[in-house]
Amino acid sequence: MTKYAFFNDQIVPIEEAKISIMNHTFNYGTGCFEGIRAYWNEASEQLYIFRLAEHYERLINSSKYLQINLPYDVHKLCNITVELLNKEGFRTDVYVRPITYKSDSGIGCRLHNLQSGFAMFSVPFGSYVENEEGVRAGVSSWRRNPDSSIPARGKINGAYVNSALSKTWAYQHGYDEAIVLNEAGHVAEGSAENIFMLRRGQLITPPITEDILEGITRDTLIQLAQEEMGVQVIERPIDRSELIIADEIFFCGTGVQIASVVSVDQIPIGNGKMGPLVAELRQKYFDVVRGKNPKYMAWCTPVF
Ligand code: PMP
Repeated sequence: MTKYAFFNDQIVPIEEAKISIMNHTFNYGTGCFEGIRAYWNEASEQLYIFRLAEHYERLINSSKYLQINLPYDVHKLCNITVELLNKEGFRTDVYVRPITYKSDSGIGCRLHNLQSGFAMFSVPFGSYVENEEGVRAGVSSWRRNPDSSIPARGKINGAYVNSALSKTWAYQHGYDEAIVLNEAGHVAEGSAENIFMLRRGQLITPPITEDILEGITRDTLIQLAQEEMGVQVIERPIDRSELIIADEIFFCGTGVQIASVVSVDQIPIGNGKMGPLVAELRQKYFDVVRGKNPKYMAWCTPVF
């Protein structure tokens, strides 16, 4: 299990990485975070961190919305991550959680005139949703927070109340996962994952201006579908009614990886089983993230 954290500028035993109940981010949700996966490659006895720099570029952008200034650049953040995972010595798949936050204590909801902090821990990690091969999704009664309220493209702690509302709505209505519409009523994403549908041979995903997180897995799959499978990918708004008549639907994200959606609001999608396109894309994705495809090794940072 987890033995170390990066906290207050150094690697410390996990028990020492503690924050006061008076902390600003604990009180107001004024922090940002990332979710990064590292994959164990048994054959080469190596742990590969997937698209590490891109995650830190996003963390720095998210932090900018909250006026959190980090003392580290992308390069340094990548090095800290490698150092932490090296020290943990995990020889299994891992999830890494870097957090930027307001380190001040006290009352007063604001962003200005507050000190910034950075912390990180990692945990061994398997699946995020239970049945990645056959997710039953329901359209959430909660809408995605619009960019005009909280930047949806920022990975902001407090904004994840929106994700939690939809995830629990789904669970308590008998679904595995939620599909969340934006204020315009278009399909935005899942509770914590992006969404794609296959219609008439085209792979379609909402554009980044539809109140979605600009997912790194989404970007990876756009490239893999086009370059490795010759599938046309289109970024355009998706109507709710299109979901029902789609040939295939899947969620994607660092945590969920690629999860085939087999029904929406209890209506089967396609033949109600994982479709051939998502099956092939999953295969290709897992080869890439595990460092088994030489063409994409630039996306895999070795730990050892
Ligand atoms: N949307 C939301 C709301 C998320 O929390 C995530 C997970 N980070 C994603 C999409 C997928 O993003 P990524 O592929 O970068 O993990």
